Amino acid sequence: MITNGTLRRTARSLAVAFTLLLSFALVQQAGAGTAVAAPAAPSVRTVYYDASGAQEFKSAVAAGVAAWNAAVHNVQLKPASGGQATVKVYADDGWPRTYPGGFGRGTVYMGRQAVNDGFYPPRIAAHEFGHILGLPDNRNGRCDYLMSGHSSPTSCKTTAPHATEAAQVERNAGGALSAFTRDAEYSDCFTF
Ligand SMILES: [Zn+2]
Repeated sequence: MITNGTLRRTARSLAVAFTLLLSFALVQQAGAGTAVAAPAAPSVRTVYYDASGAQEFKSAVAAGVAAWNAAVHNVQLKPASGGQATVKVYADDGWPRTYPGGFGRGTVYMGRQAVNDGFYPPRIAAHEFGHILGLPDNRNGRCDYLMSGHSSPTSCKTTAPHATEAAQVERNAGGALSAFTRDAEYSDCFTF
């Protein structure tokens, strides 16, 4: 004889079985999705830079670049030389500065004046590459933002971009940089 209790138990068992089946199906689907995800992934933009003119700042440039490469996926910076490079990095006795020429293009100067003032060279490099990747200066005084430049203390050694900065660069790499001014010049990044 089928009682109400038996019906409830049967219903519960069926519900549990269905949930398990559904979970299994979802896991299967996720697994399949991973296998075929590659064609759907957004293309990664590669920006080649030439730091052969960066003199004593070559390792600082490499550190700043590595920080960006670890923080963003839509664009990656790679060393190159000659005509392949769209970014040239030099060292001189002036202030650190960047002359961008569109997303992923431009000229960076690792100016010694800010280094003499105590600013951390890898952070300077990461900041200037932030301009190359379409970020403006943002003098909010915060060490956890790269684009704060001189408004953060010289003791600040953060080279990783803030999540907000990384997200903006991801959008810029995806073509959201319509307002980019080709003639922009960032020359007082680390001046007081
Ligand atoms: Zn700047």
